[in-house]
Amino acid sequence: MKNEMRLNFAAISENEIFARICASAFVLPLDPKVNDVTDIKTAVSEAVTNAIIHGYADADSDDKFVNMVCRYEDDTLYIEISDNGCGIEDIQLAKKPLYTSKPELERSGMGFTVMEAFMDDIEVISEKGKGTTVKMTKKLKL
Ligand code: ATP
Ligand code: MG
Repeated sequence: MKNEMRLNFAAISENEIFARICASAFVLPLDPKVNDVTDIKTAVSEAVTNAIIHGYADADSDDKFVNMVCRYEDDTLYIEISDNGCGIEDIQLAKKPLYTSKPELERSGMGFTVMEAFMDDIEVISEKGKGTTVKMTKKLKL
């Protein structure tokens, strides 16, 4: 089975739960295992939270939106989460376990590590001043 959906929502923390419920509802027709749904929700939460608290941290315009694309074909799920925020200067450094640019907010620097652990593959594309896109894939146990 093949399916796809696209969402564009305001970059406010209330929408983190909205995004993860949407992603998990989207895969329900595949009758996924509970563990896979939990993994997907966690990875989506991390990526969306990053867009909100890092991507748009210093942006004061009202035009702060997060885009989410979810697609599956047979047992392979693809999720893309993007923002038009500040971008990441050093992606390799950002992905390192325990690295955070916001220790004062008591972030633990584990978001990308969690996404990598719960999804099969993650790719981060980012340009300073333009925004960030996180692409994740996961093969579901159906
Ligand atoms: P945690 O996720 O554990 O609360 P964290 O968000 O700092 O802490 P990661 O999610 O691993 O840790 O992200 C690492 C760093 O990458 C962030 O501190 C931030 O500097 C940068 N970053 C991540 N996502 C974005 C984004 N969408 N836009 C700009 N910077 C980002
Ligand atoms: Mg994070």
